[in-house]
Amino acid sequence: VYPSAFEYSAPASFEEAVARLAELGPEAKVLAGGCSLIPLMKLRLAEPPHLVDIGRVPDAAYLREVDGELRIGALTREADVEASPVVAARYPILADASAVIADPSVRNMGTLGGNLAHGDPANDHPAVMLALRATVVALGPGGERAIPAGTFFVDLFQTALEPGEILTEIRVPEPAPGSGAGYVKLERQVGDFAIAAAAAAVRLEDGRIAEASIALTNAGPTALRATGAEEALAGRNPDGAALRDAAAAAREAAEPWPDLRGTTQLKQRLAGVAVERALRLAIRRAHEGRA
Ligand SMILES: Cc1cc2nc3c(=O)[nH]c(=O)nc-3n(C[C@H](O)[C@H](O)[C@H](O)COP(=O)(O)OP(=O)(O)OC[C@H]3O[C@@H](n4cnc5c(N)ncnc54)[C@H](O)[C@@H]3O)c2cc1C
Repeated sequence: VYPSAFEYSAPASFEEAVARLAELGPEAKVLAGGCSLIPLMKLRLAEPPHLVDIGRVPDAAYLREVDGELRIGALTREADVEASPVVAARYPILADASAVIADPSVRNMGTLGGNLAHGDPANDHPAVMLALRATVVALGPGGERAIPAGTFFVDLFQTALEPGEILTEIRVPEPAPGSGAGYVKLERQVGDFAIAAAAAAVRLEDGRIAEASIALTNAGPTALRATGAEEALAGRNPDGAALRDAAAAAREAAEPWPDLRGTTQLKQRLAGVAVERALRLAIRRAHEGRA
């Protein structure tokens, strides 16, 4: 299957790419790793007349800690995240998610920026960024702006990016002492999208849960925060009863639609299981001082 004909440009910087998008108008599309966009074009579900390929912009793939946050360049590949020492030491939840995305060929091409900008509720990083309370940096004709992950995912395949804006960086706050986070995905087979998945981040203080942040994948039109589950944990001992209450609240928050991966009821049930397991992982890492 071939895509419709399109024009192609490969600007040498994000600024140049923004200028090119402004010239071309809203029909033009940004191309990053191409893992989601190219299949859509081959199926003719997307027929952009022009692709602006940001994949050749230099110095746009990096993971570095600066001023109390981890800065991730938009073109950082899933495979870079999996292999990153700073991620392994301080942000292992990011590698939890990257490692369960598709297969090595997708992970070698797919970018973190693309994973978020695509706005697919089945993608794994949106929930992780919600749980970590990350910020997305967008560059447009009017300059740069920071968008909290909490307001970035607007609707199915729709984000807060304006036409002509490019996601250039993701910023994750450094974990506070006593923090831990984990991502657990339940899938039919390795490499599939999630039946249900959960990201959990906790901060323990004097052995109790001082703060919890929980988000779900594939449980609605966007990745979503399970605030009821977070409230169920506040101030409690991180024991089995607290985790079961959080899982029950997450089942309530999940509104998945039925498809070949399962019924709504099955997916809600598995959302609860994923939350309980993600919390166990997060709490274990908090005890180990591994974030
Ligand atoms: C077989 C297969 C299985 C997959 N399984 C999973 C999975 O299990 N979990 C998962 O999370 N993902 C999965 N994916 C999706 C994959 O992770 C994609 O790589 C990712 O969603 C998009 O990243 P990309 O860099 O390839 O973006 P592209 O495909 O190039 O772009 C995707 C969309 O985002 C826009 N875009 C990309 N980058 C930017 C940017 N910097 N600024 C503004 N807009 C931008 C594009 O215009 C396009 O609309 C799978 C993909 C395939 C092909």
